[in-house]
Amino acid sequence: MTAFDALADVVGPAACLTDPHDLEPYSLDWRGAYDARPTAVVKPASTAEVQAVVARARDEGLAVVPAGGRTGLCGGAVALSNGPASIVVSLERLNRIRDIDARDFSIVAEAGCVVQAVQQAAADAGRLFPIQWGAQGTAQIGGMLSTNAGGIRTLCWGNARELVLGLEVVLPDGRVLDDLRRVRKDNSGYALRHLFIGAEGTLGIITAAAMRLLPPLRNVETAFIAVPSPDAALSLYGRFRESGADLVAFELAVRHSMELCARYGVDLRMPLPLDAPWYVMAEIAAAHPSVPLRQMMEETLSGAMEAGEVLDAALAESEAQRLGIWKIREDYPECSRHGGPAVNTDTSVPVSAVPTFLSKAIGEVERRWPQGRIVAIGHAGDGNIHFSLQVPEGWEQGRPAWVAATDGFEALVNEIAVSLGGSFSAEHGIGQSKRHAMATHKNPVALDVMRQIKATLDPEGRMNPGKVLP
Ligand SMILES: Cc1cc2nc3c(=O)[nH]c(=O)nc-3n(C[C@H](O)[C@H](O)[C@H](O)COP(=O)(O)OP(=O)(O)OC[C@H]3O[C@@H](n4cnc5c(N)ncnc54)[C@H](O)[C@@H]3O)c2cc1C
Repeated sequence: MTAFDALADVVGPAACLTDPHDLEPYSLDWRGAYDARPTAVVKPASTAEVQAVVARARDEGLAVVPAGGRTGLCGGAVALSNGPASIVVSLERLNRIRDIDARDFSIVAEAGCVVQAVQQAAADAGRLFPIQWGAQGTAQIGGMLSTNAGGIRTLCWGNARELVLGLEVVLPDGRVLDDLRRVRKDNSGYALRHLFIGAEGTLGIITAAAMRLLPPLRNVETAFIAVPSPDAALSLYGRFRESGADLVAFELAVRHSMELCARYGVDLRMPLPLDAPWYVMAEIAAAHPSVPLRQMMEETLSGAMEAGEVLDAALAESEAQRLGIWKIREDYPECSRHGGPAVNTDTSVPVSAVPTFLSKAIGEVERRWPQGRIVAIGHAGDGNIHFSLQVPEGWEQGRPAWVAATDGFEALVNEIAVSLGGSFSAEHGIGQSKRHAMATHKNPVALDVMRQIKATLDPEGRMNPGKVLP
């Protein structure tokens, strides 16, 4: 029996791909930075099939690379180009909502459920699944949890990890860790689920998750705001926090990032002219419709305007306008891709250090690479800024030449973030692209413990080799 026969025997020949044309989409990562052809792509449709696939892969001496929606930004869901023979295990067919309980405010979804489908299922049950970001129409629950995704609502409800009540995981040795309970309180020893959240598929394959839901947002106010500086944005953030409403999103963007959206966005309408240096997108919410949120928003903004912290603001007057503001933010990564190759970072600092981080990073980067275009945008309410340097207008030499021309950019920006008490990996994870930064910045004792955990669960190193650990 060939390896193909062994795997096709489990999932059926139609769900075991080996044709080079079929393998192509699973070979290339979203940013186009990594390209490696796996031996096969296998699509199990049940937990039992995932188990059998992992066992067959072990018998055949193949490494296993789990893949969700393949929107990850660190090359985690593609095989290594110089690595061992690997199969990509795509969870796309494992996509049932197993249970939703509105009284319990919980949902049990399989790993291959698209995040947006889970949001919709929650909404249909009169509940809110609060995770929200630009790739939600493609990213899957398994990928979301394996990267511990953040997004624009992290400020209020936390990263993906904070929603998880229980997990079902196929371990590298083929056993199923069934911890799919919906109880909120369980102090019976180590909270094992947290090992797999953010592990990027290096410790096992998540097959299903029980997650918390929230009451729906019945009362929201959203604004697109022009501000003179990150300092002013920080003061505005403080005003919102003190306003009495819940601040559920607070995004900061340099003008160039909004110009990319205006230029390349499809069906995007800028609520304000792009003549300010920085923009904030903010949303406040209240559980009850009677809370005078519009008044709170207007008072906050007018106080900030009088103090010179706000230059101009547009308030969403309808649900369509509110979605229009978030579409700008969510479509930004795609618009930025059209603007040409960029070198990227995913930093976080304490919220109060965002202005210092930006002024240091902008100052240094402008001095060293004056030809590049700085794109800084991020979840400023979490201190998470994606600070990138894009090719100059008219650049035709391609991505590798830009990466070479900006050698040292990522290290410099990470160093500034870390020196301010921050992180070089706020929400996208490590994958392949940030392993070198792990070696530089991660606490050596923490790294040692991580290696011990990996060796215990995956002694043969078959689960997503070459990812996360340096
Ligand atoms: C337009 C755009 C906007 C984005 N915005 C944000 C944002 O605001 N915040 C944010 O945090 N991220 C963001 N991302 C990054 C990305 O969407 C997230 O990391 C997402 O969680 C990845 O989910 P996925 O299903 O696409 O995972 P994949 O890319 O398929 O996989 C990511 C990692 O998880 C592993 N994996 C996937 N499924 C499983 C599983 N079932 N079991 C074990 N391991 C698994 C893979 O091996 C890989 O290491 C954005 C990406 C894009 C393209």
